[in-house]
Amino acid sequence: MAVNLPEEQGQALARTVGCTEREFPVRVLGLPLCRGRLKKEDRDPLVERFQRRLAGWKGKLLSYGGRLTLLQAVLSALPLFFLSVFRIPVGVLDRIETLRRRFLWQGTQEGTAKPHLVKWSTVCLRKEDGGLGVLDLRDINRALLSKWLWRWLHETDSPWARTFQDRYGGHGTNARIWPTVGARASSLCKGIFGDCAEFEQAVRWEIGTGEVTRFWTDVWCGDQPLCTQFPLGSGGRWSAAIRRNIFAPEEASQLQALAERLREWEGQFGDGADRPRWAPKPNAGFTVRNSYIWRRRDLGPVTLACGNPEKIWSQKIPRKIKVFLWLLAQERLLTRTYRSKWRGGDDVQCGLCGAAPETAIHLFGECRWPQALWREAGIDTARTQFHDIAGLWVADAELGARAEAGRARQVAHFIVPASMWVIWRTRNDAIFKGTRVYTENMGAFAAALIREWASGLGGVRDVTLGGGERHITEYRQ
Ligand SMILES: [Zn+2]
Repeated sequence: MAVNLPEEQGQALARTVGCTEREFPVRVLGLPLCRGRLKKEDRDPLVERFQRRLAGWKGKLLSYGGRLTLLQAVLSALPLFFLSVFRIPVGVLDRIETLRRRFLWQGTQEGTAKPHLVKWSTVCLRKEDGGLGVLDLRDINRALLSKWLWRWLHETDSPWARTFQDRYGGHGTNARIWPTVGARASSLCKGIFGDCAEFEQAVRWEIGTGEVTRFWTDVWCGDQPLCTQFPLGSGGRWSAAIRRNIFAPEEASQLQALAERLREWEGQFGDGADRPRWAPKPNAGFTVRNSYIWRRRDLGPVTLACGNPEKIWSQKIPRKIKVFLWLLAQERLLTRTYRSKWRGGDDVQCGLCGAAPETAIHLFGECRWPQALWREAGIDTARTQFHDIAGLWVADAELGARAEAGRARQVAHFIVPASMWVIWRTRNDAIFKGTRVYTENMGAFAAALIREWASGLGGVRDVTLGGGERHITEYRQ
Protein backbone atom coordinates (compact mmCIF):
# COMPACT_ATOMS: atom_id res chain seq x y z
CA MET A 1 0.00 0.00 0.00
CA ALA A 2 1.14 3.49 -0.62
CA VAL A 3 1.52 5.68 2.43
CA ASN A 4 1.66 9.42 1.76
CA LEU A 5 2.02 8.81 -1.98
CA PRO A 6 -0.35 9.47 -4.86
CA GLU A 7 -2.01 6.27 -5.99
CA GLU A 8 -0.35 6.14 -9.46
CA GLN A 9 3.05 6.55 -7.96
CA GLY A 10 2.35 3.72 -5.56
CA GLN A 11 1.26 1.47 -8.40
CA ALA A 12 4.35 2.33 -10.42
CA LEU A 13 6.56 1.55 -7.45
CA ALA A 14 4.79 -1.74 -6.87
CA ARG A 15 5.37 -2.73 -10.50
CA THR A 16 9.02 -1.82 -10.28
CA VAL A 17 9.76 -3.92 -7.21
CA GLY A 18 7.31 -6.64 -8.22
CA CYS A 19 4.86 -6.42 -5.29
CA THR A 20 1.11 -6.64 -5.26
CA GLU A 21 -0.79 -3.65 -4.00
CA ARG A 22 -3.06 -4.04 -1.03
CA GLU A 23 -5.35 -1.98 1.11
CA PHE A 24 -5.48 -1.51 4.87
CA PRO A 25 -6.17 -3.36 7.05
CA VAL A 26 -3.55 -6.03 6.54
CA ARG A 27 -2.26 -8.63 8.91
CA VAL A 28 1.28 -8.24 10.11
CA LEU A 29 2.62 -11.07 12.25
CA GLY A 30 -0.97 -12.14 12.81
CA LEU A 31 -2.13 -8.77 14.09
CA PRO A 32 -4.46 -6.51 12.18
CA LEU A 33 -2.76 -3.31 11.06
CA CYS A 34 -4.86 -0.41 9.92
CA ARG A 35 -5.22 3.32 9.97
CA GLY A 36 -7.24 4.62 12.89
CA ARG A 37 -9.35 2.38 15.05
CA LEU A 38 -9.74 -1.32 14.55
CA LYS A 39 -13.00 -1.90 12.78
CA LYS A 40 -15.63 -4.33 13.85
CA GLU A 41 -14.74 -6.80 11.10
CA ASP A 42 -11.14 -6.90 12.28
CA ARG A 43 -12.20 -7.91 15.74
CA ASP A 44 -14.98 -10.29 14.85
CA PRO A 45 -12.60 -13.14 13.99
CA LEU A 46 -11.78 -13.21 17.68
CA VAL A 47 -15.36 -14.01 18.60
CA GLU A 48 -15.73 -16.41 15.69
CA ARG A 49 -12.63 -18.26 16.71
CA PHE A 50 -14.11 -18.75 20.12
CA GLN A 51 -17.47 -19.75 18.81
CA ARG A 52 -15.99 -22.28 16.41
CA ARG A 53 -13.84 -23.83 19.07
CA LEU A 54 -16.63 -24.14 21.62
CA ALA A 55 -19.13 -25.45 19.09
CA GLY A 56 -16.70 -28.20 18.06
CA TRP A 57 -16.99 -29.82 21.44
CA LYS A 58 -20.02 -31.83 22.29
CA GLY A 59 -20.50 -29.86 25.46
CA LYS A 60 -23.91 -31.31 26.11
CA LEU A 61 -22.45 -34.76 26.61
CA LEU A 62 -19.79 -33.53 28.98
CA SER A 63 -19.94 -33.20 32.73
CA TYR A 64 -19.40 -29.83 34.39
CA GLY A 65 -15.89 -30.98 35.15
CA GLY A 66 -15.13 -31.71 31.50
CA ARG A 67 -16.59 -28.42 30.40
CA LEU A 68 -14.58 -26.59 33.00
CA THR A 69 -11.38 -28.12 31.63
CA LEU A 70 -12.28 -27.12 28.09
CA LEU A 71 -13.29 -23.66 29.18
CA GLN A 72 -9.79 -23.09 30.47
CA ALA A 73 -8.28 -24.66 27.38
CA VAL A 74 -10.27 -22.43 25.04
CA LEU A 75 -8.33 -19.43 26.22
CA SER A 76 -5.35 -20.88 24.47
CA ALA A 77 -7.39 -20.71 21.29
CA LEU A 78 -7.18 -16.97 21.60
CA PRO A 79 -4.14 -15.33 20.16
CA LEU A 80 -2.44 -14.22 23.34
CA PHE A 81 -0.40 -11.68 21.45
CA PHE A 82 -3.63 -10.02 20.36
CA LEU A 83 -4.61 -9.68 24.00
CA SER A 84 -1.21 -8.37 24.95
CA VAL A 85 -1.32 -5.57 22.40
CA PHE A 86 -4.96 -4.55 22.05
CA ARG A 87 -7.55 -3.85 24.64
CA ILE A 88 -10.59 -5.90 23.75
CA PRO A 89 -13.59 -3.61 23.34
CA VAL A 90 -16.33 -4.12 25.89
CA GLY A 91 -18.80 -5.33 23.26
CA VAL A 92 -16.49 -8.10 22.07
CA LEU A 93 -15.64 -9.08 25.64
CA ASP A 94 -19.30 -9.39 26.52
CA ARG A 95 -19.96 -11.61 23.53
CA ILE A 96 -17.08 -13.91 24.36
CA GLU A 97 -18.01 -14.10 28.03
CA THR A 98 -21.60 -14.94 27.10
CA LEU A 99 -20.30 -17.81 24.97
CA ARG A 100 -18.15 -19.08 27.80
CA ARG A 101 -20.95 -18.81 30.35
CA ARG A 102 -23.35 -20.70 28.15
CA PHE A 103 -20.78 -23.37 27.48
CA LEU A 104 -20.24 -24.01 31.18
CA TRP A 105 -23.89 -24.14 32.22
CA GLN A 106 -25.54 -25.34 29.08
CA GLY A 107 -22.93 -27.18 27.08
CA THR A 108 -24.24 -25.80 23.80
CA GLN A 109 -24.95 -22.40 22.41
CA GLU A 110 -28.43 -23.28 21.22
CA GLY A 111 -31.37 -25.14 22.63
CA THR A 112 -33.26 -24.72 25.86
CA ALA A 113 -31.82 -22.31 28.33
CA LYS A 114 -30.47 -23.79 31.50
CA PRO A 115 -30.03 -21.82 34.67
CA HIS A 116 -26.63 -20.30 35.23
CA LEU A 117 -26.39 -21.69 38.73
CA VAL A 118 -23.63 -19.49 40.08
CA LYS A 119 -22.76 -15.89 39.22
CA TRP A 120 -19.99 -15.61 36.65
CA SER A 121 -18.03 -13.29 38.91
CA THR A 122 -17.97 -16.07 41.53
CA VAL A 123 -17.04 -18.68 38.92
CA CYS A 124 -14.04 -16.52 38.06
CA LEU A 125 -12.78 -16.34 41.64
CA ARG A 126 -9.79 -18.43 42.56
CA LYS A 127 -10.60 -21.84 43.97
CA GLU A 128 -9.20 -20.89 47.37
CA ASP A 129 -11.58 -17.93 47.38
CA GLY A 130 -14.60 -20.12 46.69
CA GLY A 131 -14.70 -19.90 42.87
CA LEU A 132 -13.92 -22.30 40.06
CA GLY A 133 -10.72 -20.56 39.05
CA VAL A 134 -11.94 -19.66 35.55
CA LEU A 135 -9.83 -16.82 34.21
CA ASP A 136 -11.55 -13.50 33.72
CA LEU A 137 -10.87 -12.37 30.19
CA ARG A 138 -11.04 -8.65 30.88
CA ASP A 139 -8.52 -8.84 33.68
CA ILE A 140 -6.26 -11.17 31.69
CA ASN A 141 -6.29 -8.62 28.89
CA ARG A 142 -5.41 -5.80 31.27
CA ALA A 143 -2.74 -7.77 33.05
CA LEU A 144 -1.11 -8.54 29.70
CA LEU A 145 -1.28 -4.91 28.68
CA SER A 146 0.19 -3.75 31.98
CA LYS A 147 3.41 -5.42 30.95
CA TRP A 148 3.92 -2.46 28.63
CA LEU A 149 3.48 -0.06 31.56
CA TRP A 150 6.07 -1.95 33.53
CA ARG A 151 8.42 -1.86 30.59
CA TRP A 152 7.76 1.86 30.15
CA LEU A 153 9.23 2.43 33.60
CA HIS A 154 12.36 0.49 32.71
CA GLU A 155 12.97 0.96 29.02
CA THR A 156 13.11 4.68 28.56
CA ASP A 157 15.32 4.35 25.51
CA SER A 158 13.88 1.40 23.65
CA PRO A 159 12.51 2.04 20.15
CA TRP A 160 8.90 1.38 21.07
CA ALA A 161 9.06 3.75 24.03
CA ARG A 162 10.69 6.42 21.91
CA THR A 163 7.98 6.07 19.29
CA PHE A 164 5.34 6.76 21.89
CA GLN A 165 7.37 9.61 23.38
CA ASP A 166 7.68 11.33 20.01
CA ARG A 167 4.00 11.18 19.43
CA TYR A 168 2.43 11.48 22.88
CA GLY A 169 5.16 12.84 25.11
CA GLY A 170 6.19 11.39 28.43
CA HIS A 171 9.47 10.46 30.07
CA GLY A 172 11.61 13.59 29.60
CA THR A 173 13.70 14.13 32.71
CA ASN A 174 11.26 12.02 34.65
CA ALA A 175 11.53 8.32 33.88
CA ARG A 176 7.99 7.77 34.94
CA ILE A 177 5.94 10.43 33.20
CA TRP A 178 3.31 8.75 31.07
CA PRO A 179 2.27 9.73 27.56
CA THR A 180 -0.69 12.08 27.35
CA VAL A 181 -3.65 10.00 26.31
CA GLY A 182 -5.97 12.55 24.78
CA ALA A 183 -9.21 11.95 22.99
CA ARG A 184 -7.36 11.82 19.67
CA ALA A 185 -4.78 9.27 20.79
CA SER A 186 -4.70 6.00 18.87
CA SER A 187 -6.65 3.07 20.25
CA LEU A 188 -3.34 1.29 20.76
CA CYS A 189 -2.09 4.10 22.99
CA LYS A 190 -5.39 4.33 24.86
CA GLY A 191 -5.44 0.59 25.37
CA ILE A 192 -1.98 0.46 26.85
CA PHE A 193 -1.78 3.69 28.82
CA GLY A 194 -5.42 4.05 29.82
CA ASP A 195 -4.75 2.18 33.06
CA CYS A 196 -1.57 3.91 34.18
CA ALA A 197 -3.15 5.76 37.12
CA GLU A 198 -4.38 2.50 38.60
CA PHE A 199 -1.15 0.75 37.78
CA GLU A 200 0.88 3.29 39.73
CA GLN A 201 -0.74 2.13 42.93
CA ALA A 202 1.12 -1.13 42.58
CA VAL A 203 4.50 0.48 42.11
CA ARG A 204 6.68 1.19 45.09
CA TRP A 205 9.68 3.42 44.62
CA GLU A 206 13.10 2.74 45.96
CA ILE A 207 14.59 6.16 46.40
CA GLY A 208 17.89 6.99 44.77
CA THR A 209 18.34 10.62 43.89
CA GLY A 210 14.64 11.18 44.46
CA GLU A 211 14.18 12.88 41.11
CA VAL A 212 11.43 10.66 39.80
CA THR A 213 9.43 9.82 42.90
CA ARG A 214 6.67 12.19 43.90
CA PHE A 215 7.01 12.90 47.58
CA TRP A 216 3.37 13.15 48.44
CA THR A 217 1.44 10.86 46.09
CA ASP A 218 3.79 7.98 45.27
CA VAL A 219 4.29 4.92 47.39
CA TRP A 220 7.81 4.96 48.80
CA CYS A 221 7.57 5.23 52.56
CA GLY A 222 5.28 2.61 54.01
CA ASP A 223 2.63 0.78 52.00
CA GLN A 224 0.62 3.82 51.01
CA PRO A 225 1.42 7.26 49.66
CA LEU A 226 2.04 9.84 52.36
CA CYS A 227 -1.07 11.73 51.29
CA THR A 228 -3.14 8.71 52.37
CA GLN A 229 -1.18 8.11 55.54
CA PHE A 230 -1.34 11.73 56.62
CA PRO A 231 -4.47 13.21 55.06
CA LEU A 232 -3.71 16.79 55.99
CA GLY A 233 -6.24 18.82 54.12
CA SER A 234 -8.02 18.11 50.88
CA GLY A 235 -6.15 16.25 48.19
CA GLY A 236 -3.18 15.72 50.47
CA ARG A 237 -1.85 19.21 49.91
CA TRP A 238 -1.09 21.95 52.30
CA SER A 239 -3.54 24.76 52.03
CA ALA A 240 -3.94 28.12 53.63
CA ALA A 241 -6.98 26.91 55.49
CA ILE A 242 -5.05 24.05 56.98
CA ARG A 243 -2.24 26.34 57.94
CA ARG A 244 -4.59 28.48 59.95
CA ASN A 245 -5.87 25.43 61.79
CA ILE A 246 -2.54 23.77 62.20
CA PHE A 247 -2.68 23.71 65.93
CA ALA A 248 -5.82 21.71 66.04
CA PRO A 249 -4.72 18.77 68.20
CA GLU A 250 -5.37 16.11 65.53
CA GLU A 251 -3.38 17.86 62.83
CA ALA A 252 -0.55 18.69 65.14
CA SER A 253 -0.20 15.02 66.04
CA GLN A 254 -0.33 14.03 62.35
CA LEU A 255 2.42 16.51 61.60
CA GLN A 256 4.51 15.13 64.38
CA ALA A 257 3.97 11.56 63.17
CA LEU A 258 4.95 12.61 59.65
CA ALA A 259 8.12 14.23 60.92
CA GLU A 260 8.99 11.07 62.85
CA ARG A 261 8.26 8.96 59.83
CA LEU A 262 10.62 10.96 57.69
CA ARG A 263 13.32 10.89 60.32
CA GLU A 264 13.38 7.10 60.02
CA TRP A 265 14.38 7.56 56.40
CA GLU A 266 17.24 9.91 57.01
CA GLY A 267 20.43 8.68 55.40
CA GLN A 268 18.73 5.68 53.80
CA PHE A 269 18.61 6.90 50.25
CA GLY A 270 20.91 5.57 47.53
CA ASP A 271 22.75 7.49 44.87
CA GLY A 272 21.45 6.04 41.62
CA ALA A 273 18.16 6.66 39.89
CA ASP A 274 14.90 5.93 41.70
CA ARG A 275 13.88 2.38 41.06
CA PRO A 276 10.35 1.08 40.66
CA ARG A 277 9.46 -2.14 42.48
CA TRP A 278 6.37 -4.27 42.11
CA ALA A 279 4.77 -3.56 45.48
CA PRO A 280 2.35 -6.50 45.78
CA LYS A 281 5.22 -8.99 45.50
CA PRO A 282 8.57 -7.27 45.97
CA ASN A 283 10.50 -10.53 45.91
CA ALA A 284 8.83 -12.11 42.92
CA GLY A 285 8.71 -8.87 40.97
CA PHE A 286 6.33 -8.03 38.17
CA THR A 287 4.84 -10.86 36.13
CA VAL A 288 1.63 -10.91 34.13
CA ARG A 289 0.31 -13.48 36.57
CA ASN A 290 1.08 -11.27 39.57
CA SER A 291 -0.52 -8.36 37.83
CA TYR A 292 -3.67 -10.43 37.20
CA ILE A 293 -3.84 -11.43 40.85
CA TRP A 294 -3.30 -7.84 41.97
CA ARG A 295 -6.11 -6.57 39.74
CA ARG A 296 -8.48 -8.99 41.39
CA ARG A 297 -7.28 -8.35 44.93
CA ASP A 298 -10.58 -6.93 46.16
CA LEU A 299 -12.74 -9.78 44.86
CA GLY A 300 -13.92 -12.60 47.05
CA PRO A 301 -13.73 -14.69 49.01
CA VAL A 302 -17.23 -16.11 49.11
CA THR A 303 -18.36 -18.42 51.88
CA LEU A 304 -18.96 -22.06 51.10
CA ALA A 305 -20.95 -24.48 53.21
CA CYS A 306 -17.89 -26.71 53.50
CA GLY A 307 -15.87 -23.92 55.09
CA ASN A 308 -12.44 -24.16 53.54
CA PRO A 309 -12.67 -24.84 49.76
CA GLU A 310 -9.56 -27.01 50.16
CA LYS A 311 -11.89 -29.71 51.46
CA ILE A 312 -13.23 -30.04 47.93
CA TRP A 313 -10.28 -29.26 45.70
CA SER A 314 -7.51 -31.07 47.53
CA GLN A 315 -9.39 -34.39 47.39
CA LYS A 316 -8.14 -36.96 44.93
CA ILE A 317 -11.50 -37.53 43.27
CA PRO A 318 -12.79 -36.95 39.73
CA ARG A 319 -13.19 -33.34 38.74
CA LYS A 320 -16.88 -33.65 37.86
CA ILE A 321 -17.53 -34.71 41.45
CA LYS A 322 -15.54 -31.78 42.76
CA VAL A 323 -17.68 -29.39 40.73
CA PHE A 324 -20.80 -31.17 42.01
CA LEU A 325 -19.58 -30.75 45.60
CA TRP A 326 -18.76 -27.13 44.89
CA LEU A 327 -22.30 -26.52 43.62
CA LEU A 328 -23.67 -28.21 46.70
CA ALA A 329 -21.40 -26.12 48.93
CA GLN A 330 -22.64 -23.00 47.11
CA GLU A 331 -26.16 -24.29 47.83
CA ARG A 332 -26.86 -24.04 44.13
CA LEU A 333 -27.52 -27.63 43.17
CA LEU A 334 -30.49 -27.78 40.84
CA THR A 335 -32.96 -29.52 43.14
CA ARG A 336 -36.62 -29.53 42.30
CA THR A 337 -37.38 -26.70 44.71
CA TYR A 338 -34.65 -24.61 43.16
CA ARG A 339 -35.78 -25.48 39.64
CA SER A 340 -39.36 -24.49 40.36
CA LYS A 341 -38.16 -21.15 41.70
CA TRP A 342 -36.26 -20.60 38.50
CA ARG A 343 -38.70 -21.89 35.94
CA GLY A 344 -41.97 -22.11 37.80
CA GLY A 345 -43.94 -25.33 38.05
CA ASP A 346 -45.06 -26.94 41.27
CA ASP A 347 -43.47 -30.39 41.04
CA VAL A 348 -41.16 -29.99 43.98
CA GLN A 349 -41.52 -33.38 45.68
CA CYS A 350 -38.35 -35.30 46.59
CA GLY A 351 -37.16 -37.51 43.74
CA LEU A 352 -36.32 -40.32 46.19
CA CYS A 353 -39.15 -40.51 48.72
CA GLY A 354 -41.75 -38.24 47.15
CA ALA A 355 -42.91 -37.31 50.63
CA ALA A 356 -41.44 -33.86 51.11
CA PRO A 357 -40.29 -30.87 49.06
CA GLU A 358 -36.90 -31.56 47.53
CA THR A 359 -34.44 -29.11 49.04
CA ALA A 360 -30.75 -29.88 49.20
CA ILE A 361 -30.84 -30.53 52.92
CA HIS A 362 -33.83 -32.84 52.56
CA LEU A 363 -32.20 -34.78 49.74
CA PHE A 364 -28.86 -35.25 51.48
CA GLY A 365 -29.86 -35.20 55.12
CA GLU A 366 -33.46 -35.56 56.19
CA CYS A 367 -34.83 -37.97 53.60
CA ARG A 368 -35.07 -41.58 54.74
CA TRP A 369 -32.88 -42.90 51.91
CA PRO A 370 -29.78 -40.87 52.65
CA GLN A 371 -30.36 -41.52 56.35
CA ALA A 372 -30.07 -45.23 55.67
CA LEU A 373 -26.95 -44.69 53.60
CA TRP A 374 -25.31 -42.51 56.24
CA ARG A 375 -25.96 -45.13 58.90
CA GLU A 376 -24.39 -47.75 56.69
CA ALA A 377 -21.39 -45.49 56.16
CA GLY A 378 -20.85 -45.36 59.90
CA ILE A 379 -22.29 -41.94 60.60
CA ASP A 380 -24.40 -41.70 63.70
CA THR A 381 -27.42 -39.93 62.25
CA ALA A 382 -29.03 -39.57 65.66
CA ARG A 383 -26.06 -37.54 66.82
CA THR A 384 -25.07 -35.79 63.62
CA GLN A 385 -27.88 -33.40 62.95
CA PHE A 386 -28.13 -32.47 59.32
CA HIS A 387 -29.66 -29.06 59.90
CA ASP A 388 -27.94 -27.60 56.91
CA ILE A 389 -25.59 -28.53 54.12
CA ALA A 390 -22.61 -27.63 56.29
CA GLY A 391 -23.59 -30.59 58.49
CA LEU A 392 -22.45 -32.96 55.73
CA TRP A 393 -18.91 -31.66 56.05
CA VAL A 394 -19.14 -31.86 59.83
CA ALA A 395 -19.88 -35.55 59.39
CA ASP A 396 -16.95 -35.77 56.98
CA ALA A 397 -14.62 -34.19 59.52
CA GLU A 398 -15.80 -36.63 62.20
CA LEU A 399 -15.16 -39.64 59.98
CA GLY A 400 -11.72 -38.32 59.15
CA ALA A 401 -10.89 -37.69 62.80
CA ARG A 402 -11.82 -41.24 63.69
CA ALA A 403 -9.57 -42.76 61.05
CA GLU A 404 -5.86 -43.25 61.51
CA ALA A 405 -3.74 -40.59 59.89
CA GLY A 406 -2.29 -41.37 56.47
CA ARG A 407 -3.98 -43.43 53.78
CA ALA A 408 -6.82 -44.53 56.05
CA ARG A 409 -7.73 -40.92 56.72
CA GLN A 410 -7.57 -40.03 53.05
CA VAL A 411 -9.94 -42.90 52.30
CA ALA A 412 -12.22 -41.93 55.18
CA HIS A 413 -12.62 -38.53 53.53
CA PHE A 414 -13.95 -40.29 50.43
CA ILE A 415 -16.99 -41.64 52.26
CA VAL A 416 -19.10 -38.49 52.46
CA PRO A 417 -18.36 -37.20 48.91
CA ALA A 418 -19.01 -40.66 47.45
CA SER A 419 -22.28 -40.94 49.35
CA MET A 420 -23.38 -37.48 48.25
CA TRP A 421 -22.64 -38.31 44.62
CA VAL A 422 -24.52 -41.62 44.92
CA ILE A 423 -27.54 -39.90 46.43
CA TRP A 424 -27.58 -37.39 43.59
CA ARG A 425 -27.15 -40.02 40.89
CA THR A 426 -29.80 -42.26 42.43
CA ARG A 427 -32.17 -39.31 42.61
CA ASN A 428 -31.49 -38.48 38.94
CA ASP A 429 -32.06 -42.08 37.85
CA ALA A 430 -35.27 -42.22 39.86
CA ILE A 431 -36.57 -39.02 38.27
CA PHE A 432 -35.36 -39.37 34.69
CA LYS A 433 -35.32 -43.16 34.22
CA GLY A 434 -37.86 -44.24 36.81
CA THR A 435 -35.35 -46.56 38.49
CA ARG A 436 -36.43 -47.95 41.86
CA VAL A 437 -34.38 -46.98 44.88
CA TYR A 438 -32.69 -49.59 47.09
CA THR A 439 -30.44 -48.81 50.01
CA GLU A 440 -28.26 -51.84 49.19
CA ASN A 441 -27.64 -50.56 45.69
CA MET A 442 -26.73 -47.15 47.00
CA GLY A 443 -24.34 -48.68 49.52
CA ALA A 444 -22.71 -50.93 46.93
CA PHE A 445 -22.35 -48.03 44.48
CA ALA A 446 -20.74 -45.83 47.13
CA ALA A 447 -18.35 -48.62 48.17
CA ALA A 448 -17.38 -49.21 44.55
CA LEU A 449 -16.62 -45.52 44.11
CA ILE A 450 -14.54 -45.37 47.27
CA ARG A 451 -12.65 -48.49 46.21
CA GLU A 452 -11.94 -46.97 42.83
CA TRP A 453 -10.72 -43.67 44.25
CA ALA A 454 -8.68 -45.49 46.89
CA SER A 455 -6.97 -47.58 44.24
CA GLY A 456 -5.74 -44.32 42.76
CA LEU A 457 -3.96 -43.55 46.03
CA GLY A 458 -1.95 -46.75 45.92
CA GLY A 459 -1.20 -48.95 48.93
CA VAL A 460 -4.84 -49.48 49.88
CA ARG A 461 -5.81 -53.15 49.96
CA ASP A 462 -9.48 -53.27 50.62
CA VAL A 463 -12.33 -50.93 51.24
CA THR A 464 -15.92 -51.69 52.09
CA LEU A 465 -18.69 -49.40 53.12
CA GLY A 466 -20.57 -50.55 56.17
CA GLY A 467 -19.46 -49.86 59.68
CA GLY A 468 -17.39 -47.03 58.35
CA GLU A 469 -13.75 -46.63 59.05
CA ARG A 470 -13.26 -50.05 60.61
CA HIS A 471 -13.43 -51.61 57.19
CA ILE A 472 -10.81 -49.46 55.60
CA THR A 473 -7.68 -51.49 55.74
CA GLU A 474 -4.48 -49.82 54.93
CA TYR A 475 -1.94 -51.97 53.26
CA ARG A 476 1.33 -51.71 55.10
CA GLN A 477 4.50 -53.03 53.65
ZN1 LIG B 1 -37.00 -37.53 50.27
